Amino acid sequence: MTSKKTQPELPDSLKKRRLRKILLRVLSCLVLFAFALVSIILWGETIFPFPTQNASSLRYLCYFLFLLLPFLITGVPLKLIDKSFSGTVRKTEIKDTIKYGGGGTTKGSGAYIQHDLILTVEKDDGKVMKYTRLSFESPLALFPIDNPRPGNAEHHKHEFREGERIYKYYGFPYPYIAHPTLPDDKYCIVCGQKNENKESFCFSCGQELVE
Ligand SMILES: [Zn+2]
Repeated sequence: MTSKKTQPELPDSLKKRRLRKILLRVLSCLVLFAFALVSIILWGETIFPFPTQNASSLRYLCYFLFLLLPFLITGVPLKLIDKSFSGTVRKTEIKDTIKYGGGGTTKGSGAYIQHDLILTVEKDDGKVMKYTRLSFESPLALFPIDNPRPGNAEHHKHEFREGERIYKYYGFPYPYIAHPTLPDDKYCIVCGQKNENKESFCFSCGQELVE
């Protein structure tokens, strides 16, 4: 049985930042929806000029899809679903996948390898989940599959250890991990950057750090 620490409190500035982002998302959805609705009421038959009579059901389908657009664009409500969790790291591994078409850092080079740093996390509710913490890319030509991986992938793998506590807060992309074995660093939940433990604000993005 592992000791279950309580989740560190989120700093006020981050709570406000989260609230702002949620309100902005909901507000932009409402504005776009109102705009789409008014457009349909005023110019519906001009935007979707189907021959009259028989095409009315087709027209209503188009109206419906048009009204769905604001939700697709703003991600309401899907991106507002709470995916927070807390748990304990049980395993760290790197999964190599061959991809084609050139990724971000290896654009235009054709085939490349994506290295995903995957943490197996035992959540406090007892469920086990795989969590992709970071992804790297390297050109296929420079990286035969049986050779050692590029330094950054291996380096980051060793930053996460079995038994460490991990907290994912609602509304933030990166989880908070404090290292009991390496008291020198903690992670920014806004940009994912590693910071020294004594810092109160992230040196990369300037946001407040969870203590
Ligand atoms: Zn940051």
